[in-house]
Amino acid sequence: MQDRSMAEPLAEKDFQKFIDHLKRKVKGGAVPPCPICGTNGWGASGPEGLVRFEKTEPRAVAHGAFPVVTLICKNCFFTHLFAWIPIEQEAKKNV
Ligand SMILES: [Zn+2]
Repeated sequence: MQDRSMAEPLAEKDFQKFIDHLKRKVKGGAVPPCPICGTNGWGASGPEGLVRFEKTEPRAVAHGAFPVVTLICKNCFFTHLFAWIPIEQEAKKNV
């Protein structure tokens, strides 16, 4: 059985889109250290996995499933998720 503890790394073209997105959106242009362990080594993977939202309560902001890019701390494996579709749409606008 394939080890699925870490997803596939981002393809080069998607990696560049993701890095450009972070540079535009993150204060100071660089990803801050991990909020859990304080180290600063991140790995990015995806876009794959689907985040599913089920409308189980009225305040739910989304319903359905969408692809995400994950940013994973290489030390403690704390994970951030970024919705991929708006990042890709933004990249097309900025070409
Ligand atoms: Zn960490």
